[in-house]
Amino acid sequence: MPAEAPDPLDALTTDLAALDAAGLRRRRRILASPCAPAATLADGSTRVAFCSNDYLGLASDPALIDAARAGAARWGVGSGAAHLVSGHTVAHDALEARLAAFTGFDAALCFTTGYMANIGVMPALVGRGDAVFADRLNHASLVDGALLSRADLHRYPHGDVDALARQLTASSAPRKLIVSDGVFSMDGDIAPLPRLLELAETHKAWLLVDDAHGFGVLGPQGRGSLAHFGLRSPRLIYMGTLGKAAGVAGAFVAARADVIDWLLNKARSYIFTTGAPPLLADTLLAAVDLIEQGDARRAHLSALIQRLRNGLTLRRWHLMPSTTPIQPLVIGDNHEALAVARALDEAGLWVPAIRPPTVPKGSARLRITLSAAHTIEQVDRLVSTLRRLEGGAP
Ligand SMILES: *Cc1c(COP(=O)(O)O)cnc(C)c1O
Repeated sequence: MPAEAPDPLDALTTDLAALDAAGLRRRRRILASPCAPAATLADGSTRVAFCSNDYLGLASDPALIDAARAGAARWGVGSGAAHLVSGHTVAHDALEARLAAFTGFDAALCFTTGYMANIGVMPALVGRGDAVFADRLNHASLVDGALLSRADLHRYPHGDVDALARQLTASSAPRKLIVSDGVFSMDGDIAPLPRLLELAETHKAWLLVDDAHGFGVLGPQGRGSLAHFGLRSPRLIYMGTLGKAAGVAGAFVAARADVIDWLLNKARSYIFTTGAPPLLADTLLAAVDLIEQGDARRAHLSALIQRLRNGLTLRRWHLMPSTTPIQPLVIGDNHEALAVARALDEAGLWVPAIRPPTVPKGSARLRITLSAAHTIEQVDRLVSTLRRLEGGAP
């Protein structure tokens, strides 16, 4: 008999200890207040948070709370079944029609999360022998979607459309799918979508744009990154999430009607899961109204971004060139980034430090995210504290 394998229970203990030793063990901070810049933690202490993706401050908006209450009164709380069984209501249907019209597509399909949308859509479009072309900085859910599809995965250097063009030219895959974040979640920059679409047209490829951080923020009335560039094409598949700027939960995919019908038939993460509570669909219908009427929120958000960028011209640490609410401050060294995050925390300011392997080596950073719910004073406090900390650093 071969030597006995180690007991997985013991291995788990060792592996967790190794995570701990490497400073990579994750822990959750427990909140005792709703998503808003003024956060109260479970221990009763308070912070000003610069880490949510609630870019328009809708997560605790009174109009949406009212819509959720009315939705619960009308529908109860659960949908009770998958959409293709009996879990699809007029609320879900109206939301899909509204999202399609709002983003300028024929049709839309709602998923319960953005992660579920990406891992459902990609395997429905490509399979073994096909090819996926992905920006290296794409979100993890797009990587997982590509792996689940079993298509060959080609990753191109961040934003490098020439490298992508070479990969596409070299590929003889029958079906090609280009995927990119619209706004990159760790860098805050906007993908070169017009060039990506040109390449998709030239190579008869699909272009899937994951606009988790652009929907509600970019483009006229917050219609997203494709609207920002004025792009339209039958090859475009647009994915937007509804738990960030929309302030609720869920996601949608918008495209030509036949593409959406195909996804409804083939996307396993759509078919084999319970429909979202209809009260969320009603809440989201109200959220899309607030996004559409949200120019004042977006103007305030832009003013905050400009104020932060004007204030944070530092000697050693630098803001990445981002025009979006994601404003990464590159510190460089892992330990220093952690120390700065800790010092901010002691000053009552909550900004997450992001380290390799989430970001490239030597680019450890603070991921500052701004929301229309922040005040100028809160941003000024962050700026002055960071200036003081940098001045006091070696
Ligand atoms: C947050 C995010 C997702 C996942 O969306 P959820 O609705 O949170 O599951 C997908 N893609 C990107 C780029 C994201 O930032």
